[in-house]
Amino acid sequence: MQEFDLFVIGAGSGGVRCARIAAQNGAKVGIVERRHWGGTCVNIGCVPKKLMVYAAEAGRAIHDAPAYGWNVTEQGHDWSRFMVAKNKEIERLNGVYVSLLKRSGVELFTGDARLVDGQTISITPSVLEPDAEPQTIKAKKIVLAAGSTPVRLDFPGAEHALVSDDLFALPERPNRIAIIGSGYIGLEFASIFAGLGSDVDLVYRQPLPLKGFDQDLRERMRTLIDLRGINQHHDVTPLKIEKTADGLELSLSSGNVLNVDAVLMATGRRPAIDGLGLDAAGVHTEKGSVTVNEQFATSVPSIYAIGDIINRYNLTPTAIAEGHMLAEELFNPQGRDWSFETTPKAVFFSPPLASVGLSEEEARESHDLEIYTAEFTPMGQTLPQRSGKCFMKLVVDGRSGVMLGAHMIGPDAPEIIQIMAVAVTAGLTKAELDRTVSLHPTLAEEFVTMRLPDRKVSRARAHS
Ligand SMILES: Cc1cc2nc3c(=O)[nH]c(=O)nc-3n(C[C@H](O)[C@H](O)[C@H](O)COP(=O)(O)OP(=O)(O)OC[C@H]3O[C@@H](n4cnc5c(N)ncnc54)[C@H](O)[C@@H]3O)c2cc1C
Repeated sequence: MQEFDLFVIGAGSGGVRCARIAAQNGAKVGIVERRHWGGTCVNIGCVPKKLMVYAAEAGRAIHDAPAYGWNVTEQGHDWSRFMVAKNKEIERLNGVYVSLLKRSGVELFTGDARLVDGQTISITPSVLEPDAEPQTIKAKKIVLAAGSTPVRLDFPGAEHALVSDDLFALPERPNRIAIIGSGYIGLEFASIFAGLGSDVDLVYRQPLPLKGFDQDLRERMRTLIDLRGINQHHDVTPLKIEKTADGLELSLSSGNVLNVDAVLMATGRRPAIDGLGLDAAGVHTEKGSVTVNEQFATSVPSIYAIGDIINRYNLTPTAIAEGHMLAEELFNPQGRDWSFETTPKAVFFSPPLASVGLSEEEARESHDLEIYTAEFTPMGQTLPQRSGKCFMKLVVDGRSGVMLGAHMIGPDAPEIIQIMAVAVTAGLTKAELDRTVSLHPTLAEEFVTMRLPDRKVSRARAHS
């Protein structure tokens, strides 16, 4: 039986980083993966999704081109051709992940892993290598990095709906698609399919999309969803899905019935704890997530957990940072940390939205605020006469001038907010933005040219 200093279950964003850093610091490390090297992000998440966003954006560029003098004829999107190119790139990345692990000295296993006890793991063959031999592994320390899976709502006919995992292997693009859920995944796919030429219905429970984001952004996003040509059904729940001769019928609580080719359930994700043997090993969970302390230790001293399985931030960079921190903490403590509370977030809609730090609603719980905003038509939209305003917002502590949050909807918002995240993480003040000379003509320069506050907001009171 093989024995390791550290054994990682799940070769996704967090697991791969944790295994590599531990091995680079001298530990004997093994990692097991059951489905795809690189995990959700590389195979059925961030990367293929962003390639789809680029595909949809290319259509927008073709559409706008005549306004800039180009003679073009748009002949529609070839889904199969795109999927071949996308799959080739993902295969390349799978190979990159495997070689990164091997070059770091990590031993790779394929299969379905299950805890037998606090230091023993059994591995049975999985889709990745069905003919592999079952194995039992011993490890001084084990890291659970098994990620998360999509949540399906429970209502009649729900089994006919797709989840995001399915979209990356669809043989054809649905011409009519209903998307349930207005979180970032729902909005991104609504925008992608609309951009590729599908009729899209977006169904959600709240009055506004993107629960948890700044209210000003949510209100503007509702308008931008209309401008993207997506039919919104807000304050509505799905009741049932029935198969019909030419597709599916989705009945809504509003009384509307949508006739579509596909329904996507983008209704959240939950930690992938099923079948991991947590009970056998005595690992505690709470509300379906593995419970850990600040050092990512579970209730069992030899077992740790990172990434989506602990349900904290549920993003790739945070899973990577957690894996890195844990590996160093175990094998070569550096005292390194990351500012998780200023983790930036993006929604790759067209146009995209991005945020860092506190929303106005969160900040006013404990601060008097100055709110700075800018709203304007981006220059790139003037010749094509494209509607939709760019919106930028700074949430500033009224006493110290420290920037608590920066928010934006508009072209390149994720790229701009990534850099604003440095300023918010560093605790810079608005005065330091004022000292910064702008780079012209850009959208980003609006963040350094906001002169007067739009409004002042007293602690825990509504907009004044
Ligand atoms: C559609 C979509 C879009 C996304 N877009 C973004 C984005 O734009 N930006 C962003 O930051 N994040 C995005 N995310 C989230 C991001 O993908 C996850 O937060 C991240 O992948 C979590 O990393 P992880 O290491 O916790 O788990 P994962 O990357 O999910 O890896 C877990 C791995 O463990 C394996 N595994 C599970 N159980 C076992 C077992 N018993 N035995 C062996 N192997 C097992 C799984 O097969 C998987 O490969 C997106 C997610 C989705 C679904």
